[in-house]
Amino acid sequence: MTETTVASGYPAAFLDRDGVINVDVGYPHLIETFRFIPGAPEAIKALNDAGYRVVVVSNQSGVARGLFTEEAVRVFNQHIAHSLASFGAKIDAFYFCPYHPEAAVERYRVDHHERKPRPGMIERAASEMTLDLTRSFLIGDRETDILAASAAGIPGYLFKENNLFSFVEGHGLSTPPQHV
Ligand SMILES: [Mg+2]
Repeated sequence: MTETTVASGYPAAFLDRDGVINVDVGYPHLIETFRFIPGAPEAIKALNDAGYRVVVVSNQSGVARGLFTEEAVRVFNQHIAHSLASFGAKIDAFYFCPYHPEAAVERYRVDHHERKPRPGMIERAASEMTLDLTRSFLIGDRETDILAASAAGIPGYLFKENNLFSFVEGHGLSTPPQHV
């Protein structure tokens, strides 16, 4: 890393979680139901190796809906991290938004700026992790992910296929980020 790189921040690959890293079984939160999307560990390792910070940004309105707790989200995320370790792959940070404007649970009933399609999670990660958004991008499986990326001023890639590694390679995303 050159001094310039550090001064301007680190490039980041923002990933949605459910439907991109793990199979979306509908509010996934139980480790027993966890399954990787094919190619996800290999894709994450390729992004690690290319020099990206890999950052998960995930709406978890299941918390607001009273389906599970924030702690359950953390346990599930930790399980993903452990599972990735055996592939030599690493997620640098997990961000999630537990809020929903019509939450069943009152303290989560907030129209929050971090809930995608808003860019708040991406912006907070950029600030907390010294990320360079001009060399960053996002992969998500829903239109709201892509809208959040646009709102944060970064490219968004809509993943609707079945192998994340092929997708990342096919879009040339695992090559080292270019300096601007
Ligand atoms: Mg998703």
